[in-house]
Amino acid sequence: MNTNPRLKGQSALVTGANSGIGKAVAIAMGNEGANVVVNYVTHPETAQAVVDEIKSNGVNAIALAADVSKEDQVVAMFQAMYKEFGTIDILVNNAGLQKDSAFENMSLADWQLVIDVNLTGQFLCAREATREFLRRGVVPERSIAAGKIICMSSVHEVIPWGGHVNYATSKGGIMLLMKSMAQELAPKKIRVNSIGPGAIQTPINHTAWETPEALKSLLTLIPYNRIGQPEDIGKVAVWLASDESDYITGTTIFADGGMTLYPGFSTNG
Ligand code: NAD
Repeated sequence: MNTNPRLKGQSALVTGANSGIGKAVAIAMGNEGANVVVNYVTHPETAQAVVDEIKSNGVNAIALAADVSKEDQVVAMFQAMYKEFGTIDILVNNAGLQKDSAFENMSLADWQLVIDVNLTGQFLCAREATREFLRRGVVPERSIAAGKIICMSSVHEVIPWGGHVNYATSKGGIMLLMKSMAQELAPKKIRVNSIGPGAIQTPINHTAWETPEALKSLLTLIPYNRIGQPEDIGKVAVWLASDESDYITGTTIFADGGMTLYPGFSTNG
């Protein structure tokens, strides 16, 4: 039982919250007193399981289906959220996917899908949340800010990634989407930040950790010498959403065990 919940009475929407990082973020926000929308696009039963776990902590939670790359579905999801919770205080733009291939073989469809979900999906959800933050303004009993947006980026917003150019491009785009929104919206008391996870043990990257050989090779990229867990990201997301980080906007926090420290150079390159 959390006796000092940092997000008490706030309403959060987490996209792609029925798996991996999004699931951990949704549960962490519920543990801090937030009511949570668990967005999903497939597997409603896993979204319902996340809802049930959050509700067992005494807050409200609902599962809402929407493909974040589809404008009409995103608008409908936010309307459904307002019907249930009245408003939104925290958006976590987490939904994302990979469609990897050698550059010369990458189809336009796989390029477009990754950009549509990972980048345009973040734009569409952030725009809906911003409209509500601006309409409603600051509610001092809940938070110093009018709203908080957290974008799930990646170490690949700064580390180039051959074989994954669509994905790395989407994350590089998120960096300037986040910073430009943060610059424009700061005077309106809306904070926008990103989290840049390194290697986190989820289904999206299972080939990188599911055999001992793959894990050993992965760890050569991580100075802290362990793979990240979804809960590592949940903790950062809660802090970024809380008033403890009130003076922080326009920043990416890398939660990567040092992956962005170029460990290949640690012994003279
Ligand atoms: P995951 O595959 O477990 O979760 C991705 C979630 O996004 C799933 O719930 C999936 O259904 C959802 N999703 C996919 N397309 C969607 C759509 N069109 N609309 C709504 N939801 C959709 O993977 P994860 O590792 O938890 O990834 C979450 C986020 O973290 C992604 O943005 C990913 O790029 C980012 N990330 C992950 C890692 C890692 O190492 N796992 C590292 C850096 C960044």
